Amino acid sequence: GKMSKLFIIANRLPVTVEETAEGNFYRQSSGGLVSAISAYLRLEDSNQFTKKIWVGVSECAERVWASAESVTPPEYDFKPVFVPPKLYEHYYNGFSNSVLWPLFHYFPSFADYQPSYFEGYLKVNAKFASELERILDPKDTVWIHDYHLLPLAAMLRKKFPQLTIGFFLHIPFPSYELFRVIPREWQHELLSGMLGADVIGFHTEDYLQHFLTSVRKVIKARIDHRTISWDGRDIQIGDFPIGIDYNKFQGASSDHGVLTKRSEYLRSKLDKRLIFSVDRLDYSKGVFNRLKGYREFLVQNPHYKEKVVFALVIVPSRDTISKYAERKKLIDEYIGNFNSRYGNINWQPVIYQYGHLSFEELVGMYTACDLALITPLRDGMNLVAKEFVASRRDRQGVLVLSEMAGAANELTEALLINPNDRKEIAKMIKIGLEMTPDEQERRMTAMQKRLQEYNVVTWAKEFFTALARISSEQMKKE
Ligand code: UDP
Repeated sequence: GKMSKLFIIANRLPVTVEETAEGNFYRQSSGGLVSAISAYLRLEDSNQFTKKIWVGVSECAERVWASAESVTPPEYDFKPVFVPPKLYEHYYNGFSNSVLWPLFHYFPSFADYQPSYFEGYLKVNAKFASELERILDPKDTVWIHDYHLLPLAAMLRKKFPQLTIGFFLHIPFPSYELFRVIPREWQHELLSGMLGADVIGFHTEDYLQHFLTSVRKVIKARIDHRTISWDGRDIQIGDFPIGIDYNKFQGASSDHGVLTKRSEYLRSKLDKRLIFSVDRLDYSKGVFNRLKGYREFLVQNPHYKEKVVFALVIVPSRDTISKYAERKKLIDEYIGNFNSRYGNINWQPVIYQYGHLSFEELVGMYTACDLALITPLRDGMNLVAKEFVASRRDRQGVLVLSEMAGAANELTEALLINPNDRKEIAKMIKIGLEMTPDEQERRMTAMQKRLQEYNVVTWAKEFFTALARISSEQMKKE
């Protein structure tokens, strides 16, 4: 292969530096993107690159970062980008999470189109570009991730016309009818920014089609099937549904720590059926829809009283944004009312935790529960659904999943629901809790097969294959 470096570019670095009395150490952070990319970077396959460097905003100050430089760094290199807090606020809480996130998840009324947000967003993207320019060679490969960095590809392209650039969007791309409500100039900036890449990837065919429609309407580019010709270059569009580290979750079910947690949960639920859900504190996750569906189930099936519990975990997220903080209060209140109204001294229908789960707790719950209830109003993919399925080595357990999640395209043997249809949710909870072990096994087996084949490594490999193909075609042309 060519002697080139690979740059993974995302909003956040997968590590931060922790200050302790014994010194300053690197601490690895978790989350879907980090484990996805790390799994690929550990592969032989990625050794075609002479160096692998992750670039992202640093959570800690420049001074702290420098102090840990002497400690053995993790498996690949890092390039922290330092962004002043006020600017980060406009870029991250502002444009990324108060404009793009709500709009792309079909919550247009939650979007706040402050010009200062957009200016901050462009500035931080430009900061990424200028930091990168100092360490990039034209022969290198760059893989940019997600909605925080939509304009970056074009910024890099301007300086390095030959660079191989991939871009992947981890959230939905909305219908043009939503995209068009963004100020016109911004629309153009965002789309032409993405078109700086050689390959643009989405989770599903639907998101890809929405993107093409927006490009058609906003930019006068030529589109032929999945190729966009613009600015003298061909850009390839593709759908690459992200997978999970299947073996990690399948293997975890026999991990000692996981088994300990699992038996703890089984002991405390006694003879009751256990329903489980976990997601970040986000309006897109449909927590109220879920609770209303569960309430409907209890009302329609009073004989399940005291025979079922719903363990609902909310992971803190973006709680400095008012829409999120307000939500936390509403959920607390709703669950309090729910338990006082439907429960009694012996029984709480909902057990609620607001906080993170360790990996052992998470998989302990995945493997202890009878039914996972996942009801987002919109979700780019939803990894929790896939992780639950992958964890069930016993091939038991039922997945109730919103058809608004990208994952529903692959997990077709789940009990699919419309999150706004609480009667349907109630019905599926009942069907799920009463499903025969044989039927559970049949569905689990089919879903596991798919997740095992198209796992996170397959995902990354397919993306790189598309990228290598188009960059060699571009080179032939030049
Ligand atoms: N997760 C986590 N900490 C927790 C609970 C879950 O890191 O306390 C992980 C979970 O394993 C999954 C990710 O967070 O990989 C959530 O991804 P998903 O696609 O379901 O939703 P997102 O939060 O990205 O919208």
